[in-house]
Amino acid sequence: MFRAPEQLRNEYDVVIIGGGGHGLAAAYYLAREHGITNVAVLEQGYIGRGGTGRNTAIIRSNYLTPEGARFYQASVELFQDLSRQFDLNLFYSERGHFTLAHSPASLRTQRWRAEVNKHLGIDSELVTPAEIKQMVPEIDLDCGGQQPPIHGALYHPPGAIARHDAVAWGYARGADQRGVEIHQQTRVTDIEIRDGAVCGVHTDKGFIKTRKVLSAVAGWTTGITEMVSLRTPLVIHPLQAMVTEPLKPWLNKIVVSASLHLYVSQSSRGELVAGASLDPYELISMRSTLDFAEGTAGHLIDLFPMLGDIKILRQWAGLCDMTPDFSPIMGTTPIEGFYIDAGWGTWGFKATPISGLTMAHTVATGNDHELIEPFNLSRFSRWQLVGEKGAASVGH
Ligand SMILES: Cc1cc2nc3c(=O)[nH]c(=O)nc-3n(C[C@H](O)[C@H](O)[C@H](O)COP(=O)(O)OP(=O)(O)OC[C@H]3O[C@@H](n4cnc5c(N)ncnc54)[C@H](O)[C@@H]3O)c2cc1C
Repeated sequence: MFRAPEQLRNEYDVVIIGGGGHGLAAAYYLAREHGITNVAVLEQGYIGRGGTGRNTAIIRSNYLTPEGARFYQASVELFQDLSRQFDLNLFYSERGHFTLAHSPASLRTQRWRAEVNKHLGIDSELVTPAEIKQMVPEIDLDCGGQQPPIHGALYHPPGAIARHDAVAWGYARGADQRGVEIHQQTRVTDIEIRDGAVCGVHTDKGFIKTRKVLSAVAGWTTGITEMVSLRTPLVIHPLQAMVTEPLKPWLNKIVVSASLHLYVSQSSRGELVAGASLDPYELISMRSTLDFAEGTAGHLIDLFPMLGDIKILRQWAGLCDMTPDFSPIMGTTPIEGFYIDAGWGTWGFKATPISGLTMAHTVATGNDHELIEPFNLSRFSRWQLVGEKGAASVGH
């Protein structure tokens, strides 16, 4: 699908750390939009090993701030055409995304979100329990009497899922075809800074000269920022997910319940893909827990009692680099030639195309793309946070 260059060159115009979707997309757009092809993507394992291959692939744009809504909407629009651009089936499937309300107070919040979304040009509306039942007949609106009943939902018709690893492969192949080198099993161990500017990176395969480094390592970001003594407010939490055995297609919507800390969709393979909110402790670990499997399975049955006999096939965890305002950290930094794409928490898969496009612009020109200006690291010292917690927590 893409070449495996045997040796690193001595020098590249740009070195991208991290072969997840974001790093690969940035490489692709650097080559395609800016003609910069002397680029190396360095990945310590295999591409898609991080959050890119571990996420539950929810794509949506019903965010709450003008900055977030415009950014994620641009990403959804890029996603819609990506299979054609890559000539690769990404199984992009528009499903519609429900955020259930289990109380009158939560319903008020969902109504507010719908109105803010409409104001920002995002397709969202409030729906009644009867309308939910019509679109998802198997749902138990009373949650088996074990949980508070469903009072309504925020409904976002463009909500979609896609095959996450194919997104990484598509960007990798497209970047490779344009001359970018992708080096797997190549770990960055240090970054060389002289007079406040990047001059190279050390790897476990030797030193590379470069004047531009893009860090796109999501849950590993704190390790990279330590190398350049850059302070960020990032904290790392695990996030878990699981799939059931494959079933005949019956669920063609994405269903999220913040009250039950649960979300679920059905993949094109028939598996139910389910997850919860973040593990509530800071930890750099990709181990999954029995506690998660029990809690998530229980809540799945609260919503869909007929799933009682279905088996869990697999469960796993990934690392999430959380920001205080649930928005990403993107763009230029005080270090000349060091660019950051991080703070992707639980919501970064959907941003893959637009983050690639905007980071490529930023690296190529040295100036933040206007869509990501609000996400610059400096917002924390300017107290200009972009608060997305209300839209980005369990919904991912
Ligand atoms: C269980 C789970 C469910 C999720 N669900 C969703 C969802 O439904 N929707 C959504 O939008 N988002 C979701 N996310 C979040 C999403 O997965 C991430 O935000 C996104 O994948 C980040 O992509 P990335 O390319 O920035 O980083 P990653 O895909 O994590 O890639 C970073 C890469 O950097 C490499 N790396 C790290 N350090 C070094 C080094 N020193 N040298 C070389 N390489 C290095 C790593 O090996 C890794 O491959 C979920 C996350 C998890 C864990």
